[in-house]
Amino acid sequence: MAVPILIIDPGHGGNDPGGGSNSLWLEKHLVLQISLYQAERFGELGVPVTLTRRTDTTLAASDRAEIVRESGARYCISNHINAGGGDGVEAIHSIHSDGALARRIVDAISTRGQNVRRVFTRTLPGDRTRDYYFMHRETGGVQTVIVEYGFADSPGDDITQLQTQWKSYAEAVVMAFCRHIGHPYAPPRAVSSGSTGGASGRQPEVQAAIGVVVNGAARGSGYLIDNVSYVPARLLTELFGATVGWDGSNVTIRTDNDE
Ligand SMILES: [Zn+2]
Repeated sequence: MAVPILIIDPGHGGNDPGGGSNSLWLEKHLVLQISLYQAERFGELGVPVTLTRRTDTTLAASDRAEIVRESGARYCISNHINAGGGDGVEAIHSIHSDGALARRIVDAISTRGQNVRRVFTRTLPGDRTRDYYFMHRETGGVQTVIVEYGFADSPGDDITQLQTQWKSYAEAVVMAFCRHIGHPYAPPRAVSSGSTGGASGRQPEVQAAIGVVVNGAARGSGYLIDNVSYVPARLLTELFGATVGWDGSNVTIRTDNDE
């Protein structure tokens, strides 16, 4: 496997549900959902990533930091849900980082409708040369951004937004990271059930309804789809005085003209 450029860290897990929990979700589950989605998307985009956990397991802070440190990745995105009664997204970067990635992430999430609370750093009390958060302080040369997608106990709209928009916010981070490292980004492909799609995966576009006129008389209608006119085979065949049969087992039509 390629050396990961990014390690995604779903915060908490196992015995530790996380503070950003409420009656609708536990932080540890929601951030795992977000992280697994992002890992899958990065995989599709060809960005090598790994995770600190892929299941609901307990990770001590020192073990988590060691996994990040030893991962070989240059960046870590640590996913969290906030608590404390605020509203909006926050990103926290190391005092040793310029904060560019953190700002990109927050800007991208804000374009998805979430309000920005702040981008900030925090030093250890009594030691202004060290980071407050272990994910910054203990992760060596890996540049970690802690993302707090919103507040589980928000008096505003975060509870609804996290429930309905978590995937959109997760995707915003995928886009922001790709832009930050200069990797080509493409949004997830829209998958519509029942469409054969073709190589492009694009839905055929119906451009217009078209009329079928024979010797001045309207005889039926069809559709113009991708600049090709489609008219029911039965209509056209019978207009030319032939008979038509549908063979469902071979998915073919047969026309016969015995004149
Ligand atoms: Zn948390």
